[in-house]
Amino acid sequence: MFKKQTLIAWLTLVAITMMPFTALAQATQIKLHSNKYSVQDDIKLGRQAAQEAESQFPLLRDPEVQSYVERVGQRLRASIPQEFQHPEFQYYFKVVNARDINAFALPGGPMYVNRGMIEAARTEGEMAGVMAHEISHVALRHGTAQASKGQKYSILGGIAGIAGTILGGPGVGQLAQAPFAVYLLKFSREYETEADILGAQIMAQAGYDPRDLANMFQTIERQGGGGGGFLSDHPSPSDRYARINREAQYLRVNTSANRDSREFARIQQRLRGYGSAPSMAEIQRSGQRYPQGEPTGNPDRNYPDNAPTGRVSYPSGRYQSVSIFNGGVNVSVPSNWRQVNEGNSVWFVPEGAYGQYNGQAVYTHGVSFGVGQTNSRNLQGATQELINNFAQGNNNLRANGGSQRSTLDARPALLTTLTNVNEATGRPEIIRLITTQLRNGQVFYMVAVEPQNERGFDSAFNQVMQSVRIND
Ligand SMILES: [Zn+2]
Repeated sequence: MFKKQTLIAWLTLVAITMMPFTALAQATQIKLHSNKYSVQDDIKLGRQAAQEAESQFPLLRDPEVQSYVERVGQRLRASIPQEFQHPEFQYYFKVVNARDINAFALPGGPMYVNRGMIEAARTEGEMAGVMAHEISHVALRHGTAQASKGQKYSILGGIAGIAGTILGGPGVGQLAQAPFAVYLLKFSREYETEADILGAQIMAQAGYDPRDLANMFQTIERQGGGGGGFLSDHPSPSDRYARINREAQYLRVNTSANRDSREFARIQQRLRGYGSAPSMAEIQRSGQRYPQGEPTGNPDRNYPDNAPTGRVSYPSGRYQSVSIFNGGVNVSVPSNWRQVNEGNSVWFVPEGAYGQYNGQAVYTHGVSFGVGQTNSRNLQGATQELINNFAQGNNNLRANGGSQRSTLDARPALLTTLTNVNEATGRPEIIRLITTQLRNGQVFYMVAVEPQNERGFDSAFNQVMQSVRIND
């Protein structure tokens, strides 16, 4: 355990500058606070809050930036000391297209990093510092620990209010009473110090200079982050900067971790290319709800309330090029198809082909695209996971004789044909699913749907599939 060791690498330096000939002090030991919630409660609460948050915040759909932040996050996660590793927690990291210098993490592991924070950081280490601090709040279960103290509040009240509270501003009053609102608004200074200390320890183990965490607080202050940003959610203990640097003296930076600072510069440059992101306050004022990137059942929809008729025009021979997932994917679709956002996925469908049936989005003809998180390392497994996902609550979905190898944008892909009975029309339909893996391990998919006895869409589907360009 790195934090219990006397730290050889620092020995010479520390001995000369700080405390010659005395026993070396050790890294600070942190203890978990008492908590009346179970680890499973953390996971459940975080999951619900994440769903809410993702319907309120625009996620940056740039696979390159996304996979970069995910990689940094997973490196930090792997560096959490053993005693605070909750194997049940599922850490994931997403970028919010907002310019405020902020980030937040939810119980059980979901973390959201604002674009503004990545752009403000001077080094990858500074960015990682904020993330390590956030991870520490999660690993130490500060959200539920803090909620355990405020017994008069109900947990459920907190979830509903969570996203509004992250944003702050009008309407927050009633929500701020809920524990998770409190959790997100402000941790106690004691918890902040713990997250700083554990954050520094995680940094060192992950190969970052823990002093970058201290530096990031200065960077935030310099950029005015004191009002409404990170520092108001994470109030500074009086000696924050000095305390982190003091801890850093006892930590040995794991030099085996190999980092590439050019990658951080490239990501920053890429972000700046997008122009200015909206502020959280602007996002809140716009009142827009946003679809999310994962199949977590987001209710965001822009399709009509009535059921689809299934009576549609044939695909136009003219195609238009469309950029989806924030430029992550380009595709050409027939010009008489309309883009419909349904939660995690983007559909292109002709009029009459889409609507609602029994509270569910239903399509009779068209294509959809989505990106899914997967636990599987290979495409076959990821595809099966996706199909299982689709099949949930649908007894009519059948896979017909497995998958065949194919390509999508010149990368290996799997083509799986499924049959289904359309929920709205009751007609048998054919679903073609093509999947490929993104560089970050997520699975990108295209689904094409048409009734079994009408094959007039086949060549359009083919053409759309050929046009897919993935920029990851
Ligand atoms: Zn904090």
